[in-house]
Amino acid sequence: MAKKTVKDVDVAGKRVLVRVDFNVPLKEGRVTDDSRIRASLPTIQYLREQGCRVILMSHLGRPKGGPDPAFTLDPVAMRLGQLLEIPVRKVSALTGPGVEAAAAEMGAGDVLLLENSRFDPRETKNDPALVADLARLGDMYVNDAFSAAHRAHATTAGLAAVLPSAAGFQMEKEVAALDGLLREPKHPFVVVLGGAKVTDKIKVIDRFLDLADQILIGGAMAFTFLKAQGLSVGASKVEEEGLEVALQALDKAAESSCRLVLPTDVVAADDFAETAATRVVAAGEVPEEWMGLDIGPETAVAYAQAIGGAAEVFWNGPMGVFEMAPFAAGTLAVAEAMAACAGVTVVGGGDSVAAVNKFGVADKMDHVSMGGGASLEYIEGADLPGVVALPDKDQA
Ligand code: ADP
Ligand code: MG
Repeated sequence: MAKKTVKDVDVAGKRVLVRVDFNVPLKEGRVTDDSRIRASLPTIQYLREQGCRVILMSHLGRPKGGPDPAFTLDPVAMRLGQLLEIPVRKVSALTGPGVEAAAAEMGAGDVLLLENSRFDPRETKNDPALVADLARLGDMYVNDAFSAAHRAHATTAGLAAVLPSAAGFQMEKEVAALDGLLREPKHPFVVVLGGAKVTDKIKVIDRFLDLADQILIGGAMAFTFLKAQGLSVGASKVEEEGLEVALQALDKAAESSCRLVLPTDVVAADDFAETAATRVVAAGEVPEEWMGLDIGPETAVAYAQAIGGAAEVFWNGPMGVFEMAPFAAGTLAVAEAMAACAGVTVVGGGDSVAAVNKFGVADKMDHVSMGGGASLEYIEGADLPGVVALPDKDQA
């Protein structure tokens, strides 16, 4: 169901509380990757152009229920100010007299950033008292943080219940991209799944078995599938508790029109290290004490070909330990095939998005989801509290 966006409601001149996702990596007091801040700019700029007073809220990291200087949003305010080319005022609390005074001093087009919402223990409890304190600051609430929408917190869901609300543009984009592939995927629809654990993604596999034409498996997860079929995976990372679900997925695939494709060759190493000895072996013949750390060249070519012929591709999870150069080729092959694919291409997941950025092909994708866990839950079919709480387009 499409949600009302900031364009569907009258925002002109209002005081608008905006939940953004500024959960960015920091190093020595600086933002090392500002893609999430950039993703929030269209909504912030639109509201400023409409003469709004824009009050921003976000969490950052996992502070233990109280203020922690390691997780302050000060570096974010600095970077946001540079990107917007205006001074961004930052307060050192989420609520209270200082915040109310700063909000009262705002003029049209001003931007105020509140402190890390998780410094307040009431945030994750969706405490009505916190919701009320925040709601006093604004005339309306905008949620632009799809990646936090799987949490029912005060700033992600609670505020939508007490203020007139709408989705921001990033939220709209994320939901539209995922709805596109869940509701009306173009065929051939190819899904590429890799990463660490089968158990993390089994529900995603299950959903895509109903929707896709092929699911290409890579990453550590492939070895749980191979072992479940009785093949030799040596010392590769296998999830014992995932063997049963892998078999169930293979059974379901056998009865469906979707092919579940496993690697035919892998890059094996004698150690989990950049300097390890490596060799390419058949997927079911990893020598004892060796571990598979990437899909092999034959598999990479086959996967790239399948991606090249797709009308729609969704990718989550790296094909190997791409953080180490000797095991990055499979992930690079998938990234490049997607970049060259003429179909609709969507990438989601923390590490897969990091890979796409590292290989410099992010701007060749139709959609790079900042969603992480929220995208996977959405694909599984879960109702995300932050999305559900927003009014539908046709709602009065
Ligand atoms: P995403 O964040 O994109 O959803 P995951 O978190 O599931 O992906 O998995 C990413 C991690 O999986 C990476 O850190 C990568 O090094 C690791 N990985 C991929 N392939 C292997 C493998 N064959 N053996 C061990 N680890 C692997
Ligand atoms: Mg990850």
